[in-house]
Parts: sequence; structure tokens; C-alpha cells
Amino acid sequence: MGEVETVIEVVLKQCYKSSMKRAAIEITGIVQGIGFRPFIFNLAKNYLVRGWILNNGKGVLIDAESENGNLDRFIQDIPKLAPPLARIESFDVKYLEPLGYGTFEIRKSEEAQEKFTLISPDVATCDQCLSELFLPQNFRYRYPFINCTLCGPRFTIIQDIPYDRHKTTMAPFAMCPICQKEYENPSDRRFHAQPNACPACGPSLCLKDREGREAPGDPIVNTLDLLAKGRIVAIKGLGGFHLACDAKNQEAVSSLRSRKFREDKPFAVMCQDIVEVKKHGEVSEEEEKLLLSVERPIVILRKSKDSPIARAIAPYQDTLGVMLPYSPLHHLLLNGPLKTLVMTSGNVSDEPISYKNDEAFRRLSKIADVFLFHNREIHMRSDDSVTRIFDGKPYILRRSRGYVPFPIKLSFPLEMILACGGELKNTFCLTRGQYAFISHHIGDLENLETLTSFEEGIEHFKRLFYIEPRAVTYDLHPDYLSTQYALSIPNIPKIGVQHHHAHIVSAMAENGVEGDVIGVALDGTGFGLDGTIWGGEFIRANLRDFDRLAHLRKVPMPGGSMAIKEPWRMAMVYLSEAFGDEATKLKVDPMKRIDFQRWDILKRAIKRKVNTPLTSSMGRLFDAISSLLSVRDEVHYEGQAAIELEMIADHEVEEEYRFHIHRDEMPMVIDPTEMIRGMVRDLIDRVPASKISGKFHRTISRMVIETCEAIRSKEKSSRVVLSGGVFQNIFLLSLVTESLKRSGFEVYTHHLVPANDGGISLGQAVVAHMRLFN
Ligand SMILES: [Zn+2]
Ligand SMILES: [Zn+2]
Repeated sequence: MGEVETVIEVVLKQCYKSSMKRAAIEITGIVQGIGFRPFIFNLAKNYLVRGWILNNGKGVLIDAESENGNLDRFIQDIPKLAPPLARIESFDVKYLEPLGYGTFEIRKSEEAQEKFTLISPDVATCDQCLSELFLPQNFRYRYPFINCTLCGPRFTIIQDIPYDRHKTTMAPFAMCPICQKEYENPSDRRFHAQPNACPACGPSLCLKDREGREAPGDPIVNTLDLLAKGRIVAIKGLGGFHLACDAKNQEAVSSLRSRKFREDKPFAVMCQDIVEVKKHGEVSEEEEKLLLSVERPIVILRKSKDSPIARAIAPYQDTLGVMLPYSPLHHLLLNGPLKTLVMTSGNVSDEPISYKNDEAFRRLSKIADVFLFHNREIHMRSDDSVTRIFDGKPYILRRSRGYVPFPIKLSFPLEMILACGGELKNTFCLTRGQYAFISHHIGDLENLETLTSFEEGIEHFKRLFYIEPRAVTYDLHPDYLSTQYALSIPNIPKIGVQHHHAHIVSAMAENGVEGDVIGVALDGTGFGLDGTIWGGEFIRANLRDFDRLAHLRKVPMPGGSMAIKEPWRMAMVYLSEAFGDEATKLKVDPMKRIDFQRWDILKRAIKRKVNTPLTSSMGRLFDAISSLLSVRDEVHYEGQAAIELEMIADHEVEEEYRFHIHRDEMPMVIDPTEMIRGMVRDLIDRVPASKISGKFHRTISRMVIETCEAIRSKEKSSRVVLSGGVFQNIFLLSLVTESLKRSGFEVYTHHLVPANDGGISLGQAVVAHMRLFN
């Protein structure tokens, strides 16, 4: 009997084999530690695929065998249905002779020859975990730390590599038998989910008052109760603390503002769901997609006129920064009666965000009434990312939680380089092959705390990605702490990169652009090669060098950095340039507010060149106009005057002001004096500020187009790259982009890295590579 059976089996197997196909599939990218193997295991079961999968040094290797149609469908489904965290970079399929595998199994990982692998950013709670969170029968019902291989903390809890539980801040929590079983079961969603936890074995919450006394009862219920009563709660999240309060409670929001010493910089809010978001802001299809993406950034939306949230959340703004819950704790907090909460960074004024319990307790005790702590430590602080939609695509203003440490892929490999970035909105960048690892948002490098965070961040990234830099690069500004740090590193080649060149190359790098381009870098402050402050720059740039071809006419900045804080000074400077001593006699509103004694002192300082650097900054011109139109004479945060000027602009206006480009000079000089005179005429004629702002935006756009056209006639270059903080102004960016395209230019803008100084580290790294190693 046995023999007969064997014969039949052999015959059957051969028939079977003839209709069978086998493929070796190699996949690289982010495919480890994100639930890829269980996903393949289950997909194989669905299609009756047999064979195996294993992790190797580059990604995963799959050997799969099944009937013709099934194997094809299996292969097609891999990229289509892959877990949300997967980033497939290459997908190679080789067909082989079938072997007759009996089952599908997960094999032991190959010992990696190269230890380097990509690390996943933190990811928003997945739908499956979410439904378990709210299912009373589930043993993780209302458990604030539920996660699986498809979601949960990653970057912020990783202390070292390889990514394994004992090298994360989950190490102190030993898994209970149930969690352990899930962790070991290849068909389970929690197979090798390093942060796997449950109420029996994982982290927990605790609510404390300002005296450190723990409140009895359910911390979530109590927190919701206090929020409803108008209290301010410091809440420990994924990458740091938030300060939260009821978004509809005017009083709570105002007291948060005053306790945080934050006069008018807008607060972000978190809404229960997309339906709630739509009550506060206008949401396009792309914005909805971005809000719901696994990165869950803050998305800047146009504020609805009838939104019931407190005005003090975003005073003087027609926009609102909104995000959706991204951790189970957020879902629990927003599932109650409060459908929108203020969720702003847990810091005082411009300090870095708090991320450790004792530190938060110390620093936030004058702001928060109570603290919602948990005992899973945050290893790397990471602020919420901030985005907008431009041209139907995400336009990143702050790239941090959810995006970092995923690298930017370059079009060619780089030597290992450390780029130290700028001063404001600092990020650093480390390169390895075709990858540029731009750090999380470090913040303004103005104090010891951010400097420490910067230095620790660099060491952490070097370890995570096996990077030993062969060169270091920095901004030319001698006073930047990032520059001083770079210069203090011993025994390594060092190279400075001009600020605006770095901006342009950063945009070129993310777009894969090489060769010569016309770079238009418009921003506030950047140290120029001639020692003056640049910021309205048109350069011929490639990845290695640049030449300055045109710039905004230089004007004095009386009082140096004080002129940035007090835009009225720049308004007076521009008025004096246009009208001389007659400026103070003009019958326009700003003259009613000017302290003429102070202005006289500044005028003398300008004459004697005392603390009065020259600048070609476009940011300062925006400031001047903002004050001239009585929008803002003094700012409380970077860019405020320009932001509010953009906000009031009438988009329907079609007129422009006159200006002059001195084409015979080299570099060419763009002179806005005629524009200032035209604006004053409009002010005297009582033209509304909104109209003047609209005309001003159109005029700046016209300046860019005409300067680029003048350059094109000499340079034969028709590719324009736009970068710099001024291009966070979406109205201007749209005007410029559209007109340049109409004039036949190819236009490149940022999408993956910020146009502001948060993006320059990438440009520095690329320039340094080209100059030192190419
Ligand atoms: Zn999940
Ligand atoms: Zn457990």
C-alpha cells in the first residue's frame, strides 16, 4: 500500500510541478522591523504560496513557489498591500526551476555582512490597533500603549542598533506570556513588534499635580475632567510633551498663552477626526490625505470663518495648524466630549520641547496645572512636523516626527559627511552612499540646551547609521554655534558653505537636479561672501560652486538684530531711501506711531555706520512693508510681520508697482525705491492695505521673473530653483512659480525638505562632497 501511495505522490507532484512557477524575490528599503515578514507569511498562505522568507543585510529575500496565476498575484500584491511603514526601494524578481516546497516558513536571518539598515520613523496607530483599543472584549481595551508591527513608536525609543527590544526604552518591561506568544508567532501582527505591550506587562500612565502628588482613579478620565474644567495639562506623547487645553475655552487658551510667554505665535490643535477638522478649516482632498497619512503631521489649513475655537489659538491668522491623533493615548483623550484640543509643544517660549518626566516637571510647572506622565522613556525628542499643501503636493515646513530618520535619497552616492546646518530651525545632516539623513528639528541654536541636544543628536545618528564622517561642513556665519561646533572638531577636513548656495543645492538635491541653474534664494538672514547680510539673492549655482548674479539693493539695518525684531526700523530705512529727509513729513499712518527721537539716534548710527550692517535681505523688505501698512511694527516670533502681510493680501488685485533693475552692474541690482514711492502714494490715496499687500506680492513676483529673464538672456539657463524662508509664503510661491512657467522656465521647488533654514544642512553636505571628494 505504502509503495503505491508513494508512486501516486510522485506522479501528482510532477503534474503539479509542471503548472508551477518559482521566483526568487529580493526587496530592499525599509522592510525590516515593520511587519514585513508576517505580511508575506499571511499573503503566501492566501495564495497557497510555498517557500520561505528571511531578512538579510540588504532587506528581505523571498523564495516563493505556486501555481502560475497565484504566484503572479502574490508578487503583484506585495508592493500594493505592503505594510504602511514599508518603503520599497528595489524589487527584483528572478524565475527559477520549481523545487516542490511543502510549506511557507520564516527562516532565520542571514548574518548581515553589512550592519547598516534603515530605521523607521514613529508611526500613527493603525486601524487594527485602533479597533482593538475601543473593543471592550479585547484585553488591550483602552490601553494607551497598544501597537503592532504596523504602527507605534520607533525612532523616539531606539537607543542603539540593531533594532531590538533590549536596545529600546521598552527594555525595562518584560513581556507577559500572552505578549511573548504574539511576539514569537510569525502569522501574528505583533511578530517581532519590539514595543509590544499590554496592561499586564507594559508602560502605564499616571496623573500628578504640581506638587508631584499622584491623583487616584483612571488618569484618562481624570485628565478629561480637568480639561473640561479649563485646566492646562502637560501630556507626555511620542516625541515629547504637549501642553493641552480645551480649544473652545477662551480663558484656558489665553492663560496658556500668557503662562508660556507666547504672545501670538499660533498654537496647533488636535481634532478627534476629519469631520471635526472640517468644522475649523477648509480641507482639500490632498490636505485630507496628508492629515490622515501615517506621518500625521500638523497641516496648515485655511481657517473657517465660523470655527468655534478660541480666537487666541491663532490670533491675526487666517490659517490654523491641525493634526489628527497619532498615538493611542491621543485617541483616548479625543474620544470624549472634547473633540478639539490645543496641543502645543511643551516648552517655555523658544526653549526645546521637554521630553523627560523630571525635566518636564521642572520646566513646565509654572505652565501646566497637572501632568499626565507615562513611564516609557523617550530617547530622542522629536517635535510634530509641520506641512502645507502646495501644487497638490506636501510642502514641508518642519520635518521631524513621522518623517525622521527616513533619509532623502540622492541621485548619486556621497562620501560620509557631517553638515552642521544653520542657527534658526537647525537640523544637521549625515550622509552615507545615496542617503542623506537629515536630523529631527533641533530648534534655534541659541542656548546650551539646544546645543546639547544638537551634539547628542549627531552622536546618536552616527551610531545608528554607522557613519564616521570624513569631512564636516558649516555655515560661513562665524557666530553660529553650529559653525563653532564644526570648527572645534579636531583632525577632519572642514569646509564652509555659503548660506544661500546651501539653500539652492538643498532644493536641487531633493529634485535630483545637476548642472547649472538659476538659484533664487529669498530669506531673512544669510552671511554673504562680502561680509554683508544677504537674503535677496539670484545666483548661478551648481552642486559645487556659485556666482552672485543679482541681488536686492543693499540697505542699512539700524541696530543689527534689533531691526529684525522691530520692522518699523526697516520701514523708516526704506522710506528714507525713497524720500530722504522728507520721509518723516509724509502724511501716512506710520508717522503717527514713530518715536522720532529714537529714529534720530538710529539715523546718526546709520550715518556713522555704528552697529548697522548692510543687507540685501528680502525678509527685511517684507518686514518694512508690513510696518508701512500698519500690520506690524514689532514681532514676537520669526517671520511674523511677513506672515501677517501675506495673510491680508488681496489675491484678486492685478496691478503692480514699478521698480528698477540695474542691468549694467555686475551683480545686477534690483532697486525697489520706485515701489516704495508708489505705495506711499496709495497710502495717501487711502487704498486699503489688503490691496497694497496684493500689489506688493505681485511686484516681488515680477522682480523675480524679470531678473530671471535678464539672467537667461546672458546665461542661456532656463532652469530656476526656488528656496529660502520667504518661499514659505504660499501666495508668493504660487505667483512666482506660475509666472516663471509662463515665461518658459523649468521651475524646481522644495517638497521633501523645508525651504527655510531647516533645509540647509542637506545643501551643505552635497556642496562639501563636490568640493572635497569629487
Ligand atoms: Zn497597530
Ligand atoms: Zn503583555
